[in-house]
Amino acid sequence: MIRVTAVIESPECLLCRTHIEDMDHLLATCSVRWAIRVSALSIYYPDLSFVPSDILTAIQLAPTPSSILDQKRFYTILSTIQWCIWKAYWNFVFDQQPVRPPAILKTVTTNVSVLLSLALDNGD
Ligand SMILES: [Zn+2]
Repeated sequence: MIRVTAVIESPECLLCRTHIEDMDHLLATCSVRWAIRVSALSIYYPDLSFVPSDILTAIQLAPTPSSILDQKRFYTILSTIQWCIWKAYWNFVFDQQPVRPPAILKTVTTNVSVLLSLALDNGD
């Protein structure tokens, strides 16, 4: 069994290096993650704009913004975006792989395409 131990020397966000990485920062307000998240959301919702509180509210499974008509589709997209950012972040922390927003967006669109087509196949 391989044990990997990471030492976090500072509570500062490793991506933007401007804020303490609390839960809100991790999930929604980090400027680096936010830029990626907004870019990805704009692919699927080009006519809508989002603020960090929209994302925090949605993650807490509170009502989605009223402009979102298909909640299942929105949660599929949002959770895929969150997962891709999460994965890229830990690849950065543990494997020193740079965070490349275009690559993250490509991963988002590939996975969302598969997930939404599966939902359509299942009649959702
Ligand atoms: Zn940050």
